Amino acid sequence: MSSAANRRRKILDAITKAAALAKRDPADVQLIAVSKQRSPDEIEALINDGQQDFGENRIQEVLSKWPPLLERYPEVRLHGIGRLQSNKARDAANLFDVIHSLDRSSLLDSLSSESAKPVRKPLVYVQVNIGDEEQKGGVAIGELGSFMTKVRTSRLELIGLMAIPPLKVEPAPYFALLADLARRHDVRGLSMGMSADFATAVMLGATAVRIGTAMFED
Ligand SMILES: *Cc1c(COP(=O)(O)O)cnc(C)c1O
Repeated sequence: MSSAANRRRKILDAITKAAALAKRDPADVQLIAVSKQRSPDEIEALINDGQQDFGENRIQEVLSKWPPLLERYPEVRLHGIGRLQSNKARDAANLFDVIHSLDRSSLLDSLSSESAKPVRKPLVYVQVNIGDEEQKGGVAIGELGSFMTKVRTSRLELIGLMAIPPLKVEPAPYFALLADLARRHDVRGLSMGMSADFATAVMLGATAVRIGTAMFED
């Protein structure tokens, strides 16, 4: 087995253990391999081990790296996890099956008008600025209610909330807060947890974890 496949198996085991502790079904947790800045060979090793969901944060990189891979592996699903410029909405709607970073009204409007056309229609997570950090993207918690209403009346298919907790502090309270916001706003999907904290995120209800470093590096 390749070492990438080994790392992937270990991550899947850790997800299963964390889900068991929380009496959750591990099948309810989607593992997204964050492949930004990784080569097609590294990506292919994971696809050959059964990995189907990949996260990327830059449209340019997706356009230069993924078309041959997608041709060979049509079962792969691409997840947009980085900040998107509104003028890239068309590319984003065409390339991504799921967008985790819907973070403002102007992007909602652009994506929504692209989705009116007969192209693929991505599922969306609304990104929440969970730690109220100036430098981070995401909808402010106080504005989430009105933003969710706007998303629900758009053409996009809303599946949940996404957040990146502040660095260097215990992430659990932020994961718990995001889970609570999802309950209050009646969405099921929770995209939270990265290499350093995915087990905690799974215990607190994550339905999608986005893992880069732990998947690609020893
Ligand atoms: C890069 C990135 C990840 C993966 O982070 P790791 O710590 O390498 O697992 C997850 N989510 C987002 C939004 C990212 O940009």
